[in-house]
Amino acid sequence: MQYNSTRNNTQKVTAQSAMKEGLSREGGLYVPESFPLLTQMDYNYLINTTYVKRTAYILNKFLDDFSLEELENYAVKAYGNNKFGGENPTPLYHYDDRTAFLELWHGPTCAFKDMALQMLPHLLTASVKKTGDDRTVCILVATSGDTGKAALDGFSGVDGAKIIVFYPKGGVSEIQRLQMVTQKGDNVLVCGVDGNFDDAQTGVKTIFTDEAYNREQNENGVILSSANSINWGRLVPQVVYYISAYCDLVKANKIKLGDTVNVCVPTGNFGNILAAYYAKKMGLPLGKLICASNRNNVLTDFINTGVYNRKRDFVLTMSPSMDILISSNLERYLYDISGKDDGYITTLMDALKNDGIYEVTPELKETIKADFYGGYATEEETLAQIAKAFSEKGYLMDTHTAVAASVLEAYRNETGDNNVCVVASTASPYKFNQSVLKALGVTEETNDEFARLETLKQLSGLEIPNSLSELKTMEKRFTNDCKKEEMIQVVTEFLKQ
Ligand SMILES: *Cc1c(COP(=O)(O)O)cnc(C)c1O
Repeated sequence: MQYNSTRNNTQKVTAQSAMKEGLSREGGLYVPESFPLLTQMDYNYLINTTYVKRTAYILNKFLDDFSLEELENYAVKAYGNNKFGGENPTPLYHYDDRTAFLELWHGPTCAFKDMALQMLPHLLTASVKKTGDDRTVCILVATSGDTGKAALDGFSGVDGAKIIVFYPKGGVSEIQRLQMVTQKGDNVLVCGVDGNFDDAQTGVKTIFTDEAYNREQNENGVILSSANSINWGRLVPQVVYYISAYCDLVKANKIKLGDTVNVCVPTGNFGNILAAYYAKKMGLPLGKLICASNRNNVLTDFINTGVYNRKRDFVLTMSPSMDILISSNLERYLYDISGKDDGYITTLMDALKNDGIYEVTPELKETIKADFYGGYATEEETLAQIAKAFSEKGYLMDTHTAVAASVLEAYRNETGDNNVCVVASTASPYKFNQSVLKALGVTEETNDEFARLETLKQLSGLEIPNSLSELKTMEKRFTNDCKKEEMIQVVTEFLKQ
């Protein structure tokens, strides 16, 4: 299968090149030329097999320059060996007859980015090797929290790769900092940066765009690369869990094969919900795709009006992984519904870059409204959902998932659509313990993360994930800081080792 760039249709590359390059030269994102359709035979196989086998089978349809066996090896490394707890890495919690929470946070960092970032390192390093390149990939990440740890854990110990994560010293939560500085592995480095997230981000961008520096590293046998959510290798593993969830609903007799199921996703970069759209394009019987935002509701407005306007105040919320005003993966969806109009997409994205705003055509507005429902939850609504689910069912959810639950409730009240809905549950409630405790009415404040974990355990009876409780006693390996200007030296020194 070939891949096109959203900004240049004449660009056609293999899956391996698409993943190795990440972004196309003119700035476009890689998308598959066509979408394989799921057949009756595919469902018969998928329903009765494991998550690892489902992954290999579905990825093989998109990544046909890998063998099924190779993909299964990667999937075992990513999701096997008890890395995600039980037998099924993505279990469903059946809240009621109509609502199932797809728990995507049983991996090593307790948030859904593990689903993609456990798989990407294997796809990426194999792609480099298979395109005849024996250089080491060095991943550079600037993180405001979740992505850094998920990338560290995914790349740690992977042959042919190194990873360096920079985090803003004052800009991550204590638990996020501990998760990073205790990371194991010889091929990883973590460094705090004096400044905020923008400083760290700008520092990394400066390194990526320094051509002389990149050339020098290339000659030393190193390719600098990023692990951000525009890489096809990060998106494609996410298609799997929607198909897998549908198969599990059939298997559990909650639906019959062919029944329509809606999906509700707490959205930031539009990656997770785009994966659901792609599953639907493969013929999976999905109905409405419900796009849930927090107060940074640029996507809600876009779905309802066709105007994408990032010129608005940025709000810090209790669902920080959705505090985003530029949803990069939306470009892939617009490319698809515009009939692969690369010129049109280039115009829209230039307008976004230069003016901070664009408006799509009236026809596209209709298409978008048919595919998606857009809604958002306020902070109060988010807290109320957590409290409600806990008092109704004893079910504990994190703040991001609660945003989705709130928007689903609004959707059902507004439309009367009572189809079964799969809600993407994107983080363990323990990860955002402070807000979750607030929702449950615990008012005494403590700055001790571990005390809060214990309080939450006593209230809910839910086990604290081992990967969080063990942080208290783990060795802090990375205690170094640097100034923004020193980031490049930190990279150079590490690459010399
Ligand atoms: C990244 C993230 C999201 C948003 O996912 P996108 O793919 O960016 O839309 C939602 N919840 C959590 C916990 C996340 O870490």
